[in-house]
Amino acid sequence: MNICECKSIEQYSKDPDIPINYDSKFNEYSLEFGPDNGCKVFFEYCFSCGGRLPTSKRGDFFTTPDNDLVNQYKEMLRSVNSAEEIIRILGTPDFQYNNPTIREIDKDLYGIKEQKRQFDYKQLSETFILSVSEYVDGTFDYCFFGNSKE
Ligand SMILES: [Zn+2]
Repeated sequence: MNICECKSIEQYSKDPDIPINYDSKFNEYSLEFGPDNGCKVFFEYCFSCGGRLPTSKRGDFFTTPDNDLVNQYKEMLRSVNSAEEIIRILGTPDFQYNNPTIREIDKDLYGIKEQKRQFDYKQLSETFILSVSEYVDGTFDYCFFGNSKE
């Protein structure tokens, strides 16, 4: 894939009337919107010429989850069917969110399910945070993501 040479996105990012921003820390271009521009859609390719944009440095700021440990926890959580069972296996979560707010449009447009609770575990490993979601329909889901190095 060719690299963007038209510099359109770079120019737009310098125009204060266009909601495209460049973050030099992460070396990323994004479309910013929502309250306080808190929502971002990141660009990997230029929408004018189709060329690849600079490679993000975001990964440098987060740990890489330990795959062996991730697989161990996946196996432990494979057949859980209650929040009590998750807490029995993993212990008390470091953070718990009850009934997190989900916009109606997010449910309709993106198929995001209504959560009952979310448990975040930070102390299982220095390499990841495990986030477990319990949905109103009684199902569970979980994801592992890198921990901030800062
Ligand atoms: Zn371009």
